[in-house]
Amino acid sequence: MTAAGRFAPSPSGELHVGNLRTAILAWLFARSTGRRFLLRVEDLDRARAGAEEVQLRDLEAIGIDWDGAVVRQTERAQLYAEAIRRLDDAGLTYECFCTRREIQDAPSAPHAPQGAYPGTCRRLTPEERALRRASRPAATRLRAAVSEWTVEDELHGRYLGTVDDFVLRRNDGVTAYNLAVVVDDAEQGIDQVVRGDDLLSSAPRQAYLASLLGLQVPQYAHVPLVVNHDGARLAKRDGAVTLADLGAVGISAEEVRGLIMASLGLPGDLKEALAVFDPAALPREPWVWDTALAMPGVAGGNRLN
Ligand SMILES: [Zn+2]
Repeated sequence: MTAAGRFAPSPSGELHVGNLRTAILAWLFARSTGRRFLLRVEDLDRARAGAEEVQLRDLEAIGIDWDGAVVRQTERAQLYAEAIRRLDDAGLTYECFCTRREIQDAPSAPHAPQGAYPGTCRRLTPEERALRRASRPAATRLRAAVSEWTVEDELHGRYLGTVDDFVLRRNDGVTAYNLAVVVDDAEQGIDQVVRGDDLLSSAPRQAYLASLLGLQVPQYAHVPLVVNHDGARLAKRDGAVTLADLGAVGISAEEVRGLIMASLGLPGDLKEALAVFDPAALPREPWVWDTALAMPGVAGGNRLN
């Protein structure tokens, strides 16, 4: 299988400028290295009816193209179940009955970082497990043999991050994000993962899981996010941030792409940008989005002049 990169949105609503910028970067990374570019809809959770169609239309509107059919995670339950079964067979899983509250209140293991699962259910006896099964369905957790793992990232270099006994399958039966992403990337031949740097801390867990499953660990590039005035990750509540919103105030999809490309120090035309794309030259700081400054007739700011 030829190498591939990907964009993998959750169909929870419309894509905003930050999502679109990450999609453009993933496309540039893939296309500039001769890779195929795949789209995967991560709809295991929080999917909203109709959102996928709008997202795909918006990607097309800013000039992103992709190869082959769009893949949806909800159609791949079998693949995820097989991977979990392989881990089960290797003794690398256990049942967890903890509520969110119990995990919060549990004393954390010595040296364990904030938020790491404290391992409460790791050593339950068969009797204790049987008792707890009667009152609550179990989640499936990975029995991790390490507490940290290192990944290589094109923009962040060597990154050492936490690995805990993370969830593989939630107690409502839904496959957990970390498991699905690892299985999907490997199965789709994706060897380059470009996504927002809010996901950098989950890369060591995913790379470790891939290594346990005997799967290739992809190359990572975690790119800076787009933020609002307060430095928080851009969200719908930050005003006109989607193509539809921006179109309504007179800013076309092509102009939005121009603003995104300018923020990356690249020409507005995707083909021209591809010819000069250099990951090493990308800005490493978040981009502060200001809709007001993108408005026609406003000088400076985001606006291309
Ligand atoms: Zn537990």
